[in-house]
Amino acid sequence: MLRLYNTQIRDKQDFLPLEEGKVRMYVCGPTVYNYFHLGNARPFITYDTLRRYLEFSGYQVTYVQNFTDIDDKMINRARAEKTSIGELAERFIREYFIDADALNIRRASIHPRATETIPTIIAIIETLVDKGFAYEAEDGVYFDVSRMPDYGKLSRHNLDELASGGRELAGDEAGKRSPLDFALWKKKKEDEPAWPSPWGEGRPGWHIECSAMIKQHLGDTIDIHGGGQDLVFPHHENEIAQSESANGKPFVRYWLHNGFINVDQEKMSKSTGNFFTVRDLAGQFPYLVLRFFMLGSHYRMPINFSTELLQAAENGWNRIRTCLENLAFVAQNATGQADVASAEAAQQLSEAIRRAEADFVRAMDDDLNTADALAAIFELVRAANTAAAVPGLPAASLENASAALLKLLDVLGLDPQGLDERDAVPPDVLALVEARAKAKQARNFKLADELRAQIQARGFVVADTPQGPKVSRQ
Ligand SMILES: [Zn+2]
Repeated sequence: MLRLYNTQIRDKQDFLPLEEGKVRMYVCGPTVYNYFHLGNARPFITYDTLRRYLEFSGYQVTYVQNFTDIDDKMINRARAEKTSIGELAERFIREYFIDADALNIRRASIHPRATETIPTIIAIIETLVDKGFAYEAEDGVYFDVSRMPDYGKLSRHNLDELASGGRELAGDEAGKRSPLDFALWKKKKEDEPAWPSPWGEGRPGWHIECSAMIKQHLGDTIDIHGGGQDLVFPHHENEIAQSESANGKPFVRYWLHNGFINVDQEKMSKSTGNFFTVRDLAGQFPYLVLRFFMLGSHYRMPINFSTELLQAAENGWNRIRTCLENLAFVAQNATGQADVASAEAAQQLSEAIRRAEADFVRAMDDDLNTADALAAIFELVRAANTAAAVPGLPAASLENASAALLKLLDVLGLDPQGLDERDAVPPDVLALVEARAKAKQARNFKLADELRAQIQARGFVVADTPQGPKVSRQ
């Protein structure tokens, strides 16, 4: 039974979707004005992994992740770059997919954009105004927080405490009645993009976008809403206020929030300037090492970022890949002469597979504990390496272990074969390896040595094993 930590109740709960066998899930996506950094990548990777695990557990998942393609950051960046907001959005949506695809983040069922959702946004605001939850002011339409007594229920703030917190009236939202009220619609300022509405030309506020995209693509009540911890207040609180006031129904059943990535004990963020973009890091480490690194911690725990830790992650990831390569190699060259020792090793390996699968599921069921799930995978790696060293182990045993590892890795979005082409052995190197083997067979050791040197010059090493030559990147 999958249990998830629900921010709403501050505890783990059995996961029971609204409709049996189906999951409706929404995750706040990026504002597409720049490359995303490692901290931004955490929710994308976390909730992609949750989606994969839900599917692995037999659910049919409808997964929506939006693009915020209109807001202050978009407007300012487009101005600075002397481009249009539309072109800026197109460019960084493209860049988003380059990084996300390489991180093996599967595409969502739907990736709606705020600017494509304007009619639904306007319809919800109209409902809120009609029901008395929102009011029009000189510079926009605002949600009247005082009309919602349980405002703050997700973040556990109460209205009195918030009101006495002395939050200043934002200079550009002068028309609102209370500092806690928030903009649903912003009336057009000079040189800003705008859409027609019952309140004149303008653009949506940020929070209403998510409420509208959820309603349009998933309905009034969804099973899972995910995002970073920093979105609990005010963003998710405001989504609840808008959606529940407009629809009169519960909005989200399970609220999930991931922790931050810290650099020198401070949250990685664009505003403070201490961040590493995924694109830059991918120049130093394979993308999947970044994903592996992220999944090495429980998603609610903070991660302290350092290059040393990424290096350690790369070593761990390579241990898994080496094991798989070794299993394939030994299986290919298995002699098939089983004896008592190899029969026993085969038996132990199949028990190790069963144990690893059970441990993996137990860890993932416990609020998506990917750190423990990886530990289960490493137990299997150890058992497989031990078994593979026993002469005469049947090829089927090795292939079972390899299939089990690949299946579990796939749930975590870690694909050792697909994406790491930079490590693949090119055909010309394979030809050299073959030529060298022939030279050795013909006892032409001088030629064999020359060919070895050529292989090394191409960045590969060749090792002679009882099963034949084995080539790998230096
Ligand atoms: Zn959102």
